Amino acid sequence: MSTAFGQSTVLGYPRIGGNRELKKAVESYWAGRIDAEKLAATSATLRAEVWRTLRDARLDAIPSNTFSYYDHMLDTAVAVGAIPHRFARLGLSDLDTYFAMARGADTEPALELTKWFDTNYHYLVPEIGADTAFAADPAKALGEYREARDLGVESRPVLVGPATFLLLAKPTEPHDEPFDRLADLVDVYADILRSLGAAGVQWVQLDEPAYVTDRSAAEIDALRGAYHRLCAVQGRPNIFVATYFGELGDALPALLDTPVEALGVDLVAGPGNLRGLAGAGPLRGKTIVAGLVDGRNVWRTDLRAAVAAGAVVTGLADHVAVSSSCSLLHLPVDLSAETALDPALRRRLAFARQKVDEVVLLSRALRNGTTSLPEPLPPAPAGWYNDAVRGRLAALRPTDRQRGAYPERAAAQQARLNLPPLPTTTIGSFPQTDELRRARAEHRAGRLDADAYTQRMRAEVEHVIRLQERLGLDVLVHGEPERNDMVQYFGEQLDGFAATDHGWVQSYGSRCVRPPIIYGDVARRAPITVDWSTYAQSLTDRPVKGMLTGPVTILAWSFVRNDQPLADTADQMALALRDECRDLEAAGIRVIQVDEPALRETLPLRRADQKAYLDWAVGAFRLATCGVANDTQIHTHLCYSEFGEVITAIDALDADVTSIEASRSKMEVLDDLAAIGYRRGVGPGVWDIHSPRVPSHDEVVEALRRAVAVVPAVRLWVNPDCGLKTRAYPEVEASIEHLVAAAAELRGS
Ligand code: GLN
Ligand code: ZN
Repeated sequence: MSTAFGQSTVLGYPRIGGNRELKKAVESYWAGRIDAEKLAATSATLRAEVWRTLRDARLDAIPSNTFSYYDHMLDTAVAVGAIPHRFARLGLSDLDTYFAMARGADTEPALELTKWFDTNYHYLVPEIGADTAFAADPAKALGEYREARDLGVESRPVLVGPATFLLLAKPTEPHDEPFDRLADLVDVYADILRSLGAAGVQWVQLDEPAYVTDRSAAEIDALRGAYHRLCAVQGRPNIFVATYFGELGDALPALLDTPVEALGVDLVAGPGNLRGLAGAGPLRGKTIVAGLVDGRNVWRTDLRAAVAAGAVVTGLADHVAVSSSCSLLHLPVDLSAETALDPALRRRLAFARQKVDEVVLLSRALRNGTTSLPEPLPPAPAGWYNDAVRGRLAALRPTDRQRGAYPERAAAQQARLNLPPLPTTTIGSFPQTDELRRARAEHRAGRLDADAYTQRMRAEVEHVIRLQERLGLDVLVHGEPERNDMVQYFGEQLDGFAATDHGWVQSYGSRCVRPPIIYGDVARRAPITVDWSTYAQSLTDRPVKGMLTGPVTILAWSFVRNDQPLADTADQMALALRDECRDLEAAGIRVIQVDEPALRETLPLRRADQKAYLDWAVGAFRLATCGVANDTQIHTHLCYSEFGEVITAIDALDADVTSIEASRSKMEVLDDLAAIGYRRGVGPGVWDIHSPRVPSHDEVVEALRRAVAVVPAVRLWVNPDCGLKTRAYPEVEASIEHLVAAAAELRGS
């Protein structure tokens, strides 16, 4: 147990491969094009590549078991035997049971998918009951450890720690409390540690990020107790407890109080951890793993500042290792693939591969001095700043974020729109057919010229408008055929944004996203959506809804600049959208929807930070939407119904109509909204578009009856839960038919 930790490490590395090889392999396996053996072989190649990369970069403490066919929480569930009976009883192979938990099988719905802290990664939520029979299954961790060793790499297996695992789990039965099972689970982790120790593993990494969020004294005590017990295990490896995404607060002294050999703190998202370490007194005998290189954002590290912070830690602890602030899973793989990026931007960026070099450089500079560090970057090019935008921002007044009183707005809008009670609408997108995707790809590749492309898209808009008229919807949409993605599309048309060619990041399972990079002041070069919306409106007398993505969502799904407060970038984005709203209005668009599905996602992890966030987030939305006249109707859309802490913020958005997810939660959200005094329009989704199932007419009537009992019919909208882009036309037509007929039935009654 005496082996030193090493000087430099990362907490994890992207597993999808530089060309999304894992995505392709896994999807081929699902489609039956390759067998399990071929999938395993491709995966082994990817793992070997990562280990070689890390070793060749001269990282001296290398993680393993960070590979996953789908998700590391799911892998941990398997490692501790937490496979719900409903999957075990399917009698599938281990691999297919695993994928059944991830994706569902036959009639068995998948485990719930939810966001990993405040990142855009999603994990599968373990289902833990009083009867979950935990049992150690260290095969994957051992297998990867041996694989690395065969390549000459002595690695450190990584697992989600027992406390975080249970804190992120959900109970099988409502009265169960997963965290109550901690003692049982710790026994199983003890077994795993014994197996790893017996195989020669010297260090194991247990991730406990749940302790950077608000935790009760009892939960912190339980954490302390768990690690005291794990440290007492005979023949175990050294234990490294990794934390990330923020400050540990009271959990820091608790962890330092245990005999764990190493503790990792995030000094990027949680600079206050430095104070916490200093306050803890001399850290004898412990390795502090200092997360100095940002694992969440794409900017190069200010190495001199990082060395200064690292030096403070060196003064406190016997041994310090330099690390990424969190796993590099959240970054694109390698900047060297981005040959088309503006060189001025490129030299300021670092993706996962480059961050590893930074870690190594830092660890050397910490020991040998900063003389070997590269020169600091020159100031950003003047062209990245836009004086006009900065001037507008400086001149903003509170009234720019206010509209007229709601009753007056509602009357003016009704006079202009003349809608029936229980108006029907959709959330924006219509099915994205292969044909549409092909047309966009051909256009991008230059094989379809601008005119021909516009014609194709207009034909689609016309088709969607005619369909909606035939189905009898009241407020129509153009269908969003021109959009690859609701953020990327706007990013491509705004100053201050750059797109990458290969900058893929895993979002969940085989799904990857390519977030744009916001590097400069955001400005609109020209109207973005006005042509599409006005074309759609020219085809029909019914109102067509303009369709924009809100400022907070655009920031949440991009890599953001870190040289100014997020609030300022949000306001710049909001000004561009404000101009777009005004242009849509001037062009005769009477209803405009500004989607903010990410409003709740970016909520800070600590309650103490949430108010400040919600203030600027709501402020940016209002800046974007308050430039229009009273008789223009503003809608917003949120993809969820459990508003929790953000419920009053949703009211504060002051949108005329809010559409939300509700079909799975049985309309309960309407009571929550009523309880806080929300009195404007609301469209609780009556059709769960995440499933191909067509809701029956009676089901929709039933849902609407529950809704009208809470919300008066004039304020109640009838719509699906979300956009229809992933659905197919037959389901869409049948479902909308039921929806429209149900609305008509309720109007009549
Ligand atoms: N308007 C978008 C759509 O319909 C909204 C998508 C979303 O909320 N995620 O596709
Ligand atoms: Zn949605």
